[in-house]
Order: sequence, then structure tokens, then C-alpha cells
Amino acid sequence: MTASVLPPSPTAFAKATWDDVAPYFDDLVERRLDASTVDSWLHAWSRLEELVTEAAALAMIAYTIDTSDPEKEKDHLRFSTEILPKMEERSVELARRFVALGHSTPDLATTLERFRTSIDIFREENVPLFSELEELSARYQRITGSMTVEWEGVERPLPQLQPFLKSPDRAVRERAFRAATQPYVEERGALTGLFDRMFHLRQEAAQNAGFANYRDYVFPAKFRFDYTPADVERFHEAVEQQVTPAVSRVLEHRRRRLGLDVLRPWDLAVDPYRAAPLRPFETVDQFVSTARRVFDRVDPVLGGQFQTMIDEQLLDLDSRKGKAPGGYCETLHFRGRPFIFMNAVGLVDDVMTLLHEAGHAFHAFTSHRQPLIWQRHPGSEAAELASMSMELLASPHLAQPIGYFSPQDHRSAWLEHLEDILLSLVHIASVDAFQTWIYTHPDGGDAEARDEAWLRIRSRFERGVDWTGLETERIARWYRQLHIFMYPFYYIEYGIAQLGALQIWRNSLKDQAGAVARYREALALGAVRSLPEMYLTAGAKLTFDADLIGELVQLVERQIEQIRAQLPAAAA
Ligand SMILES: [Zn+2]
Repeated sequence: MTASVLPPSPTAFAKATWDDVAPYFDDLVERRLDASTVDSWLHAWSRLEELVTEAAALAMIAYTIDTSDPEKEKDHLRFSTEILPKMEERSVELARRFVALGHSTPDLATTLERFRTSIDIFREENVPLFSELEELSARYQRITGSMTVEWEGVERPLPQLQPFLKSPDRAVRERAFRAATQPYVEERGALTGLFDRMFHLRQEAAQNAGFANYRDYVFPAKFRFDYTPADVERFHEAVEQQVTPAVSRVLEHRRRRLGLDVLRPWDLAVDPYRAAPLRPFETVDQFVSTARRVFDRVDPVLGGQFQTMIDEQLLDLDSRKGKAPGGYCETLHFRGRPFIFMNAVGLVDDVMTLLHEAGHAFHAFTSHRQPLIWQRHPGSEAAELASMSMELLASPHLAQPIGYFSPQDHRSAWLEHLEDILLSLVHIASVDAFQTWIYTHPDGGDAEARDEAWLRIRSRFERGVDWTGLETERIARWYRQLHIFMYPFYYIEYGIAQLGALQIWRNSLKDQAGAVARYREALALGAVRSLPEMYLTAGAKLTFDADLIGELVQLVERQIEQIRAQLPAAAA
């Protein structure tokens, strides 16, 4: 059988095992590779990766939509634990062939740098380790995806408690907070066991590759070429210095506005300006068609891309039992299309999540013009710049008749979002500092010590909330942070990108059209430029500088004050 003719679509790989995929890699290993064939060879390899990753993405999407179907779980696991890790191994082999050829063009420079790094850190003995980590990740998803709460006689998945966390009735909020936290408290034993194993595997993989610990391994593994662990420490310090006090001010204002002696963790989501939480939409159809108009207003090309997602059913947005938690945007590389998954329940947060994921989707559409798969997908610092900037660029268009809100509600939604930006920076710093501690401290493998470290790090960054008597609940917060389990160290990227997005937003306050144009230009670069260049193209500086962070925080706080002045005065 000749493997050189690739199947016409990813459907051919839907039920594939590694044995069905391997011959195509064998062919690329054996095929003649020299200056005259390098282009066609690269295209064939890229096409093969498109087909297999799209088949894997489709299996993952099907599984996260219905985690209770064992057949879908099996398909997803076959890709994530068997096919993709083996493909990674063969890709390194092909990358070695390509690098040895000495062929380069300006648009291949970043790809070559990544290939060289992957070759350097690849160890055959790590393949089964990463495969086991994938299985453990799926187990984490299974445990958390099946968590339900009995709420007023109805069994509900956890995301459906969100509206009650926003209830103006403090007793309801407290009940919802405790109910949403309880499953994590109950599963602590299972989750701790799971994490212990993940920790051990990750440290072992790092050591196999010649690194002291998994944190040091992660920098090259995630292609973090433009910043160091020391920069990240500077980021933590800058957040502590500049953002933590701003968050304290925001929370103090909230405390007074709510007329409370102290803020408890269940007082953070309620809108202090409204008797009932905002309900921006009733049905998913409304949710989607309104988003379509909003994106059209940001830029008609982006609106058109979103319409394509509607037409081609590339959205699964509402919360249903059995769906995995969270939200994501996955790229279907063969079709050049993105897919958005989330758990919407009709709140402002859902609107923001959709804007965020749509930013990723626009990135996927726009960068698909790059000919090779490796030239399209930049690191998460660039990816999250696309998504977090979209939250800010689309926000001015959320008022009716285009958007979801009356002018008054639009202001309070925008206020909530700006406050969330400050709160999230503090959360990001604590999650990253915590993971740094786990993988660099000798006690990182000890479950008790981890929980204590979380409490210590959390109180360094998060002030203004009274957690007295709620230590167990506060600890449970990190067990709920799926990144720590499934995508270790994927978090600082949100912080870096938020600072970039705030700069793009600052540009848009002077010149909305210009800021959107530069944003689109940066997205079109895909992965063919370095991270600082990509940021510059978008109109932002890649920064860990406390002064610039301070400036941006001030800008956000000034906006917050302006909006507060336009909202109704306190009833008291
Ligand atoms: Zn994102």
C-alpha cells in the first residue's frame, strides 16, 4: 500500500489507530528531501498534521459536549493518549530531517527555532509519561464534569449555580457559594491523588530532558523565548505593588455600596448597583444573533467570520448536563475553521466569554492564510492577546439596539468587566506564583504543604475579602482551576496578554478603527514573527514593567470612577 496519497478529509481518521496514521509518517521519513523537494515535502507534512489534528479536535469536541458517552471518551482518549503523543515523536524525527537540510526563509525562521527547541528537549522515554498525563487529564475532566448539586430539588451541573452567586439575597449567595464549592471539598482526596501523580510525572519528564524541575522545562517546551522566570517574578511583584491595592479599593467600594461590615467570598459576584443580576439574553439564538451584530460593528470582516461559524454550526454554547466545564476555542486546521464551546447560562460573564473565544476564532480565521500549520499557531501569549483584546474592542458596542443591554445596563456590565480585569490580574499572579512554588519547592509533592502554600500565596495577592472559617473553601479554589491540572503553567499568558490588550484598548480610545486595523494585522501574522514583534504590530509593548502596569491600572480605575459617577447613587 502506498501512503503518499493523503486521505481527502479528516473523516478518514475518525476511527483511526496509530497503525493507520504511521505509514504516512514513514513515507515522509523515506521520501527524498533536498532543495528541489523541500516545499512539496513541507506541504505534505503540514497537510498530514492538519488532517490528524482536525480528527483529534473533532473527537475532543464530541467528548466535551457529552462526557458521559463512553464511545466518545474512547475516541478522544485514542487520539490524546495514543495517536498525538506518537505523532509528536514522529514530528520531532521529521523536524530533525528538515533542520539538517539547512533550508530557511524569513517566514520559516520562527518555525525552525521551535523545531530546534523541540528536538533539544525531546526524550523518547517521556512519550509514555505525557501519554499518562493525558489520561490523568481526562480523569480530571470526568470527575469535575460529573459534579452536580441538588439545588431547590433539581440536580444541576455547577455552572448553573452562577446566577444564584449573583443573587441580591445574601443568604442565597452564601448557599450557592457553599454548594458550588462542596463537590471540590468532597473530591479533594481523589483530586490530590491525581495531582500527586501528575506532579511526579512532570518532574520526571523535566529531569529526563536535563532540567532541574518542570518549571525550567516549561519555558523551552512552551517556546517562551522572549521572557524568563525572573521576568515572571517581576510580574508577580508588579501585580502585588500596583494591582493588589487597586483591587482593595474596588472591594472597599463594593463593601460600602452593599452596606456590609466585611466582604465574604459570596459577596463578590453580586452587582451592587442592581436588584437583580443582568440577564443579557434568554435563548442561545438571541445570544448568537446579537453577537453577530456586535462583531459586525467592530469590523464587518469579523462579523462575516462569525456568521460563517453560525452557518457551519461551529458553536456549542449552552450549559447542559454531561458537558465538560469551561469554555474553549479549538482550531480545525484542515478546514481553516474554529469551533467555540462554552457553558452559557444567560449572564454577563457569558457575553464576555463569547467575546473572548470569538477573538481566538478570528485569530484562527485570519492566520489560516499562512501556508503551513506551524506558521499559523503562535504561543498562548499571542493567542490570548487576540481574545482579551476582543473583549475590550467589542465592549463599546454592547448597548442596544445593536447589543445586549440598555444604556444603563451597558454601563454596569462594562463596570463589572473593568473590575474583573483587575481581579483577574491578581488571580493570574497567584495561580502562576503557586505553580512556580509547586514545581520549584522541595515540598511541592506534599499535598498538605501545597494547600498551605496556596493559602499563603493567595493572601499575598488577594486582599479585602474575609475568609475567616472558610479555609477549606479557600483551598478548594485551586482544585477548581483546571489549568493547574491539565495545562500546567498556562496562566501567566493571560496576564501578559491582558497588559497587551489594555494597551490596544487605550489606543482604541483615541482611534477605534486604527486600533482594530492593527489588531487584525497582528492576527494575520500567525506564528511567523516573534512575540514582541506581534505585540508591536498590534500596537502594544510586551512588558513586565511595573510603571507601565501602574499606568494601565490607573487608566482602568479612572474609567471605573467615571462609570460609577453615571450610575444611580446608593439607596442608602
Ligand atoms: Zn483564551
